[in-house]
Amino acid sequence: MQLNVSQLLKASIGSIRNYEVSETVDITGGGSMVEGKVRLMRTDRGILVKGTLHTEVEVTCSRCLSLFSCPLALNIEEEYFPTTDVISGATLPLPEEPGCFTIDEHHVLDLTEAIRQYALLATPMKPLCGDDCAGLCPYCGHNLNQGPCDCPPQGSERKDVNYGSFTQTKIR
Ligand SMILES: [Zn+2]
Ligand SMILES: [Zn+2]
Repeated sequence: MQLNVSQLLKASIGSIRNYEVSETVDITGGGSMVEGKVRLMRTDRGILVKGTLHTEVEVTCSRCLSLFSCPLALNIEEEYFPTTDVISGATLPLPEEPGCFTIDEHHVLDLTEAIRQYALLATPMKPLCGDDCAGLCPYCGHNLNQGPCDCPPQGSERKDVNYGSFTQTKIR
């Protein structure tokens, strides 16, 4: 996801370039298709990237443990700072912001790392394959989304046991 921004760096502050994104990015070890539009704007310090990208990541359902594809919308807004002056070729000092994104000495702005970070932040901590996911049987581990298991209904059985001991005490 590399964009050459040497022309935009030479343009006046406020100049805008629009890009269509349609690329595979390695987000969680596997390649995820990333699509959308980004707008690059020349700022006084560098280039501001803004846009919404759509992708999908493979996640494990926290209830039934099955793998499924989770759609993500990434609202990206990041300023990229040039490391080299586009006219003179001189090395530029970076702002003292830790982890800020940079444009390399060939004036290439790489969106990959930002996409990866935004996607990881957007991935739910406890993903569900569906709001109505039935989960796993706590006794045999069967995935209840695939139908019921052979375990006896536990709730009613416990009631019977309680009732039994209650009647026994009564008789004595
Ligand atoms: Zn599930
Ligand atoms: Zn079961």
